[in-house]
Amino acid sequence: MNILVLNCGSSSLKYQLIDSETENVLAKGLCERIGIDGRLKHEPTGGEKFVSENPLPDHTAAVQAVIDALLDAEHGVIKSVSEIHAVGHRVVHGGEYFAGSVLINDDVKKALEVCSDLAPLHNPANLIGIAACEKLMPGIPQVGVFDTAFHQTMPEKAYLYAIPYKYYEKYKIRKYGFHGTSHKYVSLECAKMMDMPIEELKIVTCHLGNGGSICAVRNGISVDTSMGFTPLDGIAMGTRSGSVDPAAVLYLMKKEGLSVDEMDRILNKESGVLGISGVSSDFRDIEAAETEGNERAATALDTFSYRVAKTIGEYVAAMKGVDAIVFTAGLGENSATTRQVICDYLRYLGIHLDSYKNSLRGQAVEITTRQSRVPVFVIPTNEELMIARDTKEIVENLKK
Ligand code: AMP
Repeated sequence: MNILVLNCGSSSLKYQLIDSETENVLAKGLCERIGIDGRLKHEPTGGEKFVSENPLPDHTAAVQAVIDALLDAEHGVIKSVSEIHAVGHRVVHGGEYFAGSVLINDDVKKALEVCSDLAPLHNPANLIGIAACEKLMPGIPQVGVFDTAFHQTMPEKAYLYAIPYKYYEKYKIRKYGFHGTSHKYVSLECAKMMDMPIEELKIVTCHLGNGGSICAVRNGISVDTSMGFTPLDGIAMGTRSGSVDPAAVLYLMKKEGLSVDEMDRILNKESGVLGISGVSSDFRDIEAAETEGNERAATALDTFSYRVAKTIGEYVAAMKGVDAIVFTAGLGENSATTRQVICDYLRYLGIHLDSYKNSLRGQAVEITTRQSRVPVFVIPTNEELMIARDTKEIVENLKK
């Protein structure tokens, strides 16, 4: 079964066509600047990359451009649209409605509209992407895979904020958590690498990219995670502040006469390691600046690793133990130094890194010595594959 995995953003659309039997990616690409001018970058596996600059006025045009690229005589990988058997959508917010992936129907679309209030930048783009596929590939089953779904297993004590309960009842203000597809994927892979049933494991998964979150996965389910009502909460990130005393935000707004939108921009776009270092949101730039002696770059990296290590400790306490720790995403997979610094804090758990294994890149690997009491893994995340797997399962069940 060929599954088209779509990740629709407000002005972009990432895609992969995956053969769900072999789990091979047949082609992947990205539409950018939708509604502005338009650019499509398409990469057939084993073939030449191809860029087209045709206008993409909306998401329907973008989905059409993806279909055209997949069918293209020179760069395409299929001969007819009927070779796309299902579409899997990455959806950011499923609120309390979805604890797993679902076949998209009218009720699901209505629920997504309600959740748009919680993710105003993301969910509307997903809905437009779904409508575009309905129009261009009528009758093809579409599945929604939610960033929040994996965390719906969190107990009340983990997801409730200590604010008047009426606001949870009235507005559903609570911790939702994000990156669920990634945390689920790497925890499953970790159990496979340990050759243990996931139902018997306590794993802390660290998704450290431009956005970052940490998750406590006990017996295969999320019991706590660091992002909250929005992806702003938790550890410091590229440009996002992570947790800040809410009173500091109110104080700053009063002192600087900031509007809600201005404060939102500062916390989401001007904070994190960019805010502290003043150098960049990209950890590579900050690491380079630190090497050149930039003190604020060093402070930004120190603050980041310290907060990650503290959060791991929190989740070891929440699960009353830990059997494995996993690093994933751009920084987690690629920065040996960051992993080293974080794991130095975790010596109290009996963790000992193997510096050679920690220096390996681009593969799933255990990076601790045999003497380490808790194994630590680097596992490249693969959210698209997870979306394809869920989509396949749901579509196959339809036929039963
Ligand atoms: P992601 O959001 O998962 O794509 O991760 C992107 C982030 O990973 C970038 O902003 C970089 O800060 C970080 N990153 C990627 N490669 C490296 C590397 N080799 N060393 C340090 N950081 C990296």
